[in-house]
Amino acid sequence: MSTGVRIIMFGRQGAGKGTQSSRLAQHFGVPHISTGEMLRNAVKQDSVVGRAAKTVLERGELVDDELMVSLVQGRIGQEDARVAGYVLDGFPRTIAQATAFDSITRARPVNFVIDLDVTRDVVVGRLSARRICDSCGAIYTAAGGEPADWKCAKCGGQVTQRHDDRPAAINHRLDVYETLTAPLISYYRGRGSLHVIDGLGSPDEVFERLKTVVETGLRR
Ligand code: ADP
Ligand code: ZN
Repeated sequence: MSTGVRIIMFGRQGAGKGTQSSRLAQHFGVPHISTGEMLRNAVKQDSVVGRAAKTVLERGELVDDELMVSLVQGRIGQEDARVAGYVLDGFPRTIAQATAFDSITRARPVNFVIDLDVTRDVVVGRLSARRICDSCGAIYTAAGGEPADWKCAKCGGQVTQRHDDRPAAINHRLDVYETLTAPLISYYRGRGSLHVIDGLGSPDEVFERLKTVVETGLRR
């Protein structure tokens, strides 16, 4: 196996994929590449990509494969990712993205594919309660009784609900996940490179499981 930690993280929306990807990236000293985050930033900056993606994102649909592949190709081609590797969070999302990704990473293929497994029932509850700081991205859980004007404890930014964390969009995103993304798990399982990790438990417990899988794999 060539050096570097190149991880693809799968998991239903709300499985904790973003949090755990970020922790793994920090632990192994590689960039955390979240395609959802890249797209949301593009929308905020009102860039060409952002304008193309805005309504698609709000509806919880998938952004065009070609656009996604070129975004990711550009990002993993940057120095930090080329040298150390990456944790890829939110990509690939379709078989077309996965096969395109295979062909652009032939020289340095991904070495861990992880499915962070949490059932649909559990994630619906988590997502409906999820709130995010518009400025720093800190994640909060609404338990009821929050002020309408909720300020982030870390940076003072506005804490809001993502458009696509409203019930209709949540169910739609989960349906999209089952039909388009779940088959990818079989795709990687077929190659023997898939690790299924139980996503239930505290963030620390889940992180320990993930870290162990990667460290064990690196020692082989
Ligand atoms: P979640 O997994 O919770 O839906 P993400 O932050 O990963 O959230 O993605 C948010 C949105 O960004 C998706 O609903 C989709 O519209 C778009 N998106 C992110 N990654 C991709 C991708 N690889 N292909 C197509 N669309 C994507
Ligand atoms: Zn904040």
